[in-house]
Amino acid sequence: MASPASAPPAAALDPADLSAVRAALLAWFGRTARTLPWRGGQEGARDPYRVWVAEILLQQTQVARGTVYYDRFLTAFPTVQDLAAAPQEAVLKAWEGCGYYARARNLHRAAQQVAQDGFPHSYDGWLALPGVGPYTAAAVSSLALNEARAVNDGNVRRVLARLHAEPQPTPAWVQARADALLDSARPGAWNEAVMDLGATVCTPAAPRCGACPLQPWCAAFASGAPAAYPAPKVRAAVRDVPVVAVLIGTPQQAVLERRVGALLGGLMGLPAEPLASGETPQAALERLCARLPAHPGAFLGSLTHVMTHRRVTLHLYAAQADLPRHLVAQEALSRLDQKALALAAQPALL
Ligand code: SF4
Repeated sequence: MASPASAPPAAALDPADLSAVRAALLAWFGRTARTLPWRGGQEGARDPYRVWVAEILLQQTQVARGTVYYDRFLTAFPTVQDLAAAPQEAVLKAWEGCGYYARARNLHRAAQQVAQDGFPHSYDGWLALPGVGPYTAAAVSSLALNEARAVNDGNVRRVLARLHAEPQPTPAWVQARADALLDSARPGAWNEAVMDLGATVCTPAAPRCGACPLQPWCAAFASGAPAAYPAPKVRAAVRDVPVVAVLIGTPQQAVLERRVGALLGGLMGLPAEPLASGETPQAALERLCARLPAHPGAFLGSLTHVMTHRRVTLHLYAAQADLPRHLVAQEALSRLDQKALALAAQPALL
């Protein structure tokens, strides 16, 4: 792969080409648009609830996997009123496996606001809802209200960086290029088209330039090394977080606690404590058991789980206590807790 540094510098697309670029992408979209469950209804007048849920749920999730979660969520809450009226536990249960549970809690709060006040009528109205950032507000207002707002996500960033051969696109740079290129007559279709192009043709590692409607104007293609744009991001370091947890009861019926904090807050999980600096798992186990209170038992095993720049190593122990048990299948649990329960359910341990 050639280095972006050896390629021509980024150039603004010739304004004379803009209408041809728009026409080419929209014609391609007309032929190849993906059929997705939130794309019902007319272009620019999609169902705002379905678009909104999809945009929140699919952040950080691939469409193929996200669609399964989306169908499950929409089956549980077919309308914004259903979502608003549901208890938070039921919302988190329907969100199980999607991660980033703050999104579900914010979506629930925003649904309660919408059920009372009605759907927002503009980008600014959407932006004012809990958990709705510029990307989601632009997506919903363009797809459902046909408001001329350009979306700016990972797919858009990649397509525009390549179109202009820009190795280091900043968010402001991407937004400015996206705004300039947006087809203001058909903003909903335009945004859907760019998202589809990024997801199916201008993919991260192996762009299919031979099938791309933007190829005649693409500076990265002309450079001979389209995949070199944009330059890889420097990833945030992953932090190690050692944790002890206890199973009191069985993997089916166990003592559970409600998690707090931004990442998993609202979910239920096995009683757990992170290790203090320099603390051994055994010492942390005794601290955890003193808090509950419980009697520590046998070591059941360890597992590792990576989430949001954290690598959690969980050391699981049995413990005994006279505390109320929960039916595990009925509670919303994080994947970490599901893995811990699966570890405890291994035949050799029972
Ligand atoms: S020509 Fe290739 S690199 Fe350029 S936008 Fe199309 S798929 Fe992406």
